[in-house]
Amino acid sequence: VPIDFGADKIKDLPTILEKYKFQKGLLISAPSMVRNGVAQKIMDASNGKIKAIFSNIQPNPTVQNTDDCVEALVEHKCDFAIALGGGSILDCAKVACFVATTSYTTEVYFTKQQPITHKGLPLIAVPTTSGTASEITNVSVLTDTKRGIKAPLASEFLYPIYALVDPMLTLSCPQQVTASSGLDVLAHSLEAFYGKKHQPYTDLAAEYAAKLVFENLLVAYHAPNNLEARINMSLASVTAGMAFNLTQTAAAHACSYPLTQNFGVPHGEACALTLPTFWKLNSIGKESKRLEAFSRRLGFEDSIDLANRIDEMKKDMQMCLTIEEAGVKT
Ligand code: ZN
Repeated sequence: VPIDFGADKIKDLPTILEKYKFQKGLLISAPSMVRNGVAQKIMDASNGKIKAIFSNIQPNPTVQNTDDCVEALVEHKCDFAIALGGGSILDCAKVACFVATTSYTTEVYFTKQQPITHKGLPLIAVPTTSGTASEITNVSVLTDTKRGIKAPLASEFLYPIYALVDPMLTLSCPQQVTASSGLDVLAHSLEAFYGKKHQPYTDLAAEYAAKLVFENLLVAYHAPNNLEARINMSLASVTAGMAFNLTQTAAAHACSYPLTQNFGVPHGEACALTLPTFWKLNSIGKESKRLEAFSRRLGFEDSIDLANRIDEMKKDMQMCLTIEEAGVKT
């Protein structure tokens, strides 16, 4: 995905729309972006190219949200879409843009009754949180409320055509969302590093991203208007995305899905619940030297020290530390 990264990059959006010669678009966004006026501003700047705003998407987007979004894309005869929001908005938009070009519903693809076989409507992804990196990956995580399943849907045809990453848009990100999505970035980095499919390039990206999170997440959490910390967290998010898009995520993410689905724990917070334990577990045995060296390069004494630091950060940001605090009765 071509990435355009930088503060105030959102101002380039009208030029990008001209370049692609798009005519009719849907702005897929979050209710918060509609309330704060950012969605309307983008619509106004599109020279009439954006025909409507769709914002009926809940956190942990459902198959139904996606079908409703498809309906809006079809109704306005869209030839493109812009997704402006956090991971939920981007994930929903990616699948909706594909399903809108088929005669099926989202469920058919979510349950793998049909494969994803072609590119959908072109989507420009504009993230407003530093977390999922959905703007540069081929994965969407959706929830099927009927079956009670939250699961990722991945395909080479789900990539957005363009990622416009403007850290200024993350300044309004609420504190708890900053905490949870920042921990998600850390999970992407560490899981990409210990994941079986890791390679030298993903190792590089994972290490750079993890370092940025350890140095900037608490600053962004305690001082939300600190632009430098916000820029660094955006950079960490995209860089970790480059790593896990190739390696995929691992055990901490796998464990997070039922925590989110059944106990309502936000995605990043759910991933971070088991992340230090899996880091420690992977520090024993075959990978021990790599993980120890990684931890030391980041300024920690050893792997255990790095894992403990994650728990300290979670405590500082009032994230759950135990399975009981996550609401699970044992
Ligand atoms: Zn994640």
